[in-house]
Amino acid sequence: MKTPLPDYLSETMLGCFDGGAVADYIPELANVDPDQFGVALCTPEGTQYEAGDAEVEFSIQSASKPFAYALALETRGAAGVEAHVNVEPSGDPFNSASVDEETGRPDNPMINIGAITTYALTAPDDWTAAERFEHVRAGLSAFAGRELSVDLDVYHSEIGTSYRNMSLAYLVRSIGHFELEPSEVVAGYTRQCAIRVTARDLAVMGMTLGTGGVNPVTGQRVVSEETAQRVLSVMSTCGMYNASGDWMTDVGIPAKSGVGGGIFGVLPGQVGAATFSPRLDGFGNSVRGVALFERLSQDMGLHLMGVPPASDAAVHTFTIDEAPETRVVLAFQGPLRFAQSERVLRAFEEIPINELPVHLDFSRVTSADRVALRMINEGIRRLGLDGHPLHIDDPKDVLRRA
Ligand code: GLN
Repeated sequence: MKTPLPDYLSETMLGCFDGGAVADYIPELANVDPDQFGVALCTPEGTQYEAGDAEVEFSIQSASKPFAYALALETRGAAGVEAHVNVEPSGDPFNSASVDEETGRPDNPMINIGAITTYALTAPDDWTAAERFEHVRAGLSAFAGRELSVDLDVYHSEIGTSYRNMSLAYLVRSIGHFELEPSEVVAGYTRQCAIRVTARDLAVMGMTLGTGGVNPVTGQRVVSEETAQRVLSVMSTCGMYNASGDWMTDVGIPAKSGVGGGIFGVLPGQVGAATFSPRLDGFGNSVRGVALFERLSQDMGLHLMGVPPASDAAVHTFTIDEAPETRVVLAFQGPLRFAQSERVLRAFEEIPINELPVHLDFSRVTSADRVALRMINEGIRRLGLDGHPLHIDDPKDVLRRA
């Protein structure tokens, strides 16, 4: 069989009408072919699907911001970054001077003022400008699983006209939320925005956040699980600028757009998706990209607030009554999280308190998260206290018992 997924993607693209205009405040961006359109998906196992211009390079622009934020979190720790950049939606356009009235902190790392500040935090202050940029370029490359390079034409074209970003940087520097020279920070940030990616890259980069920080294609751990979770949270509230509320309601996928025409979205544990189409709406988001994400979300049931299917098949309990003994057998399956573990504990509770041996079979369990481990191991401890001889079948060591 030939998988129907690429056909589905191509057909869905056909239904997305274009509109808007390419970004022209960065002169070089006005030269891209506005009719290009591509889409790519990446799964947690690293399988990739694509249609259209998914392998055409374009400048990442603001879609780089979540990844630079991730690098800053790794370098300075969450508290070290939050002392200088908030995580509040601003409700203002991406290039606004949105800072907290009292602390002067930029509202969030997804708008320019916060992203410029974040760039300064990606590496220690005593690194050179070149070292700092290389750290960011190498970091984004690890997210993509290939070496990314800078589009120098786009960089020069933007840096020559970036008066507004310069003024935002001077504003933050005057308040004191970074120590470096503002013009160096804007140059580095602008280079970061000029990094070339494809929709295919963005899907992998997104999935790396959605697996908790491990690149699904290369297997490399790029950032910690805490960092990945934090970045996705900020993307969900601030990723689409002042259209973020509409986006989360209609599409429901944490996402980030860039004025180069890219959008990527991540449904943790399920899919990284990316689109590329250069014409933008008034918010600076790709018109066909938004339309395609709306369709993908509906067709594929990807809304983050959609209720996941209940796994009531998680526990099977039966009694085996054969000589020389009678024993209670409980077999578990699938991933164990809070709701499944609660069912497991209820099944434990129903075992009559007597001397009957209890056999627990975890061989079909695929994973157990931190909560599941605590709940189930505590349940096992209590079964033992009740006097049941226990036999635990856990060949994959999902319970991580000593
Ligand atoms: N480099 C662009 C800027 O700073 C990025 C903006 C964007 O993609 N929204 O204006």
